[in-house]
Amino acid sequence: ISITDPIEEHRICVCVRKRPLNKQEVLKKECDVITVPSKCILLVHEPKQKVDLTKYLETQAFRFDFAFDELASNEMVYRFTARPLVQTIFEGGKATCFAYGQTGSGKTHTMGGDFSGRAQNASKGIYAFASQDVFLLVNQPRYRSQDLEVYVTFFEIYNGKVFDLLNKKAKLRVLEDGKQQVQVVGLQERQVSCAEDVIRMIEMGSACRTSGQTFANASSSRSHACFQIILRRRGKMLGKFSLVDLAGNERGADTSSADRQTRMEGAEINKSLLALKECIRALGQNKSHTPFRESKLTQVLRDSFIGTNSRTCMIAMISPGMSSCEYTLNTLRYADRVKEL
Ligand code: ADP
Ligand code: MG
Repeated sequence: ISITDPIEEHRICVCVRKRPLNKQEVLKKECDVITVPSKCILLVHEPKQKVDLTKYLETQAFRFDFAFDELASNEMVYRFTARPLVQTIFEGGKATCFAYGQTGSGKTHTMGGDFSGRAQNASKGIYAFASQDVFLLVNQPRYRSQDLEVYVTFFEIYNGKVFDLLNKKAKLRVLEDGKQQVQVVGLQERQVSCAEDVIRMIEMGSACRTSGQTFANASSSRSHACFQIILRRRGKMLGKFSLVDLAGNERGADTSSADRQTRMEGAEINKSLLALKECIRALGQNKSHTPFRESKLTQVLRDSFIGTNSRTCMIAMISPGMSSCEYTLNTLRYADRVKEL
C-alpha cells in the first residue's frame, strides 16, 4: 500500500500493543496473562480465587482497531497506527498519536525507539518512521513544487510546566491569545531537511529528557513528551503531527503517597489523562465544547482537538506479566472509553 492511498473516514483509531516478557520477568517466572487471538481482539486472563481458595482464570475480552502481540515490530505498529495519519498534515490538518500505559509497558520504545545501541542495532520508533514518510511525500513531484518546509519541536510537560527538549530543558510559558490560539512562547522549531536530521533531533531531545534523572526516581515516567512535525508553506503552517509519549498512567494513583511533591504530580497526571480522554471523545463525537483548558497537555494540543481535519490515534501499551494485571485492565478500560462511539 502507498501512503497516498485514500485514508479511512474515521477520526479516531485506538489500538493496543503487548510487549514481550523481559529478562527479569522471565527470571522471576512471571506468567504471561495476555493473548491476542486475532488482529482486533486482546484477552486478559486474570488469576482469581474462589472463597474455597480454588484458583481460576477469568478471561476478559477487549476489541480495538488493532491489537498487536509481542511479535509485532515498531514498524508494523507504525504502519497501522500513525502512518495513515501522515497524509492528513499535507491536507492542512492536525494529526496526533498518543502512547498510553503504565511505566515500563513500552511507550518510549514504541514512540522514540532506541538509539542508545548506536547505528547498527538502533531501532526506530514512530517519531522516526513518521518523519521518514513526511520526507517521502515532501519529495514527491506533486508536493515538490509547493516549497514545503519541515520543522520539528520536542518538549516535555512535567507537573503542568513545559520544558524545551531541544533547548537544554528551558522552561517555557504557555499563552492563550484573544482568539483562543495557544502559544508556547520561545519553543524552538528546528528546520530539518531529511530523515537523518530528524533522527539527530530525536537523539538530542531524548538524551535531554533523561539527563539528570536517576533510575529510582525517573522523572520521564512522570512527564509527557511531545514530538511535533510541522509542515510550512512559505512560512505559513500547513499541518502538524504531534506524537506524544504520555506519563505513566499508574502515576495518577500516586495521590495517596506520603510525599507531597509525588502526590501533586500524581494529581496533575490524573487530571491531564482525564482531560485527554474527554478531548478525544469530544473530537470523535464532533462536540462543540472541548474541555482543553483542564490541563496543560490538552491546552498545548488544543488545535489538534478541533477543526474539521483533525485525526488522532491512541496506542495503549501493556505489560504482559501477571503482576501488572490490575494496571493493564485500567489501561484497557481507559482505551475502551476513548474509542469512537
Ligand atoms: P515506558 O516508556 O512505557 O516506561 P519503555 O519503552 O521504556 O517503557 O520500555 C521498558 C523496557 O522494555 C525497555 O527496556 C524497552 O526497550 C523494553 N521494551 C518495550 N517494548 C518492547 C518491545 N515491544 N519489544 C522489546 N522490548 C521492549
Ligand atoms: Mg518512557
